[in-house]
Amino acid sequence: MILHPVPAFNDNYIWVLHDGQRALAVDPGEAHGLAQWLQQQRLQLDTILITHHHPDHTGGVAQLREATGAQVFGPLRERVPGPFTGVEGGDAIEALGLRLEVIDVPGHTAGHIAFFAADVDGAPLLFCGDTLFSAGCGRLFEGTPAQMLESLTRLAALPANTRVCCTHEYTLSNLRFALAVDPGNPVLAEHASRCQALRERNLPTLPSSIGLERQINPFLRSHEPALAAAAQAHDPSSPANALGVFTTLRAWKNVFA
Ligand code: ZN
Ligand code: FE
Repeated sequence: MILHPVPAFNDNYIWVLHDGQRALAVDPGEAHGLAQWLQQQRLQLDTILITHHHPDHTGGVAQLREATGAQVFGPLRERVPGPFTGVEGGDAIEALGLRLEVIDVPGHTAGHIAFFAADVDGAPLLFCGDTLFSAGCGRLFEGTPAQMLESLTRLAALPANTRVCCTHEYTLSNLRFALAVDPGNPVLAEHASRCQALRERNLPTLPSSIGLERQINPFLRSHEPALAAAAQAHDPSSPANALGVFTTLRAWKNVFA
């Protein structure tokens, strides 16, 4: 199986997984660039997965389905251009001969889901939309900090070697914030210089891995004393528990420049 991010818009990736003939695409916000790439590679679009309802994740679905007859799976609790099969946490679907489990990850949107395949050529694979980013997490448009923390905790519990396919190339801007709130983290500093070098060559910093994110992502590390200290230095009224720290970090990131 080959995993490939097709760039879209300013900083989106439409993740494609394929076996050389049939392809699965995740969150196609637009159709044209993806269709062109699939044609160049001589791939037939078999399945579309949708993580949440935002237009930069769904804008190409209707046109692609019409052109290819691909099956579409999306969040049961969200309004996505139909027809599609609604799925929720605990469901499992089949695509390209793979079994993908659906995980509920509310927070960025109320019905956001992620797709997890336990074994793709020996390693797990996660499509997590706008929930988990490398060194960051999605904004809370529809959910509470408690929901988002629970969703991220669920993802952080996946195997360390899980490849993490996020929908946006936000890594460098996330890393600026991460370095500010977790300055004594050597793994983070090393990852930041690696990502800097990749972006200078216009290469993706993704996929990341769950094991790496556990070590560098401040939003997966709100239980760590270093992050609690940073949150309290920023806002002395911030509770020292993981949820209080997470809430303060998420609000701080929104205004961090
Ligand atoms: Zn979104
Ligand atoms: Fe998005």
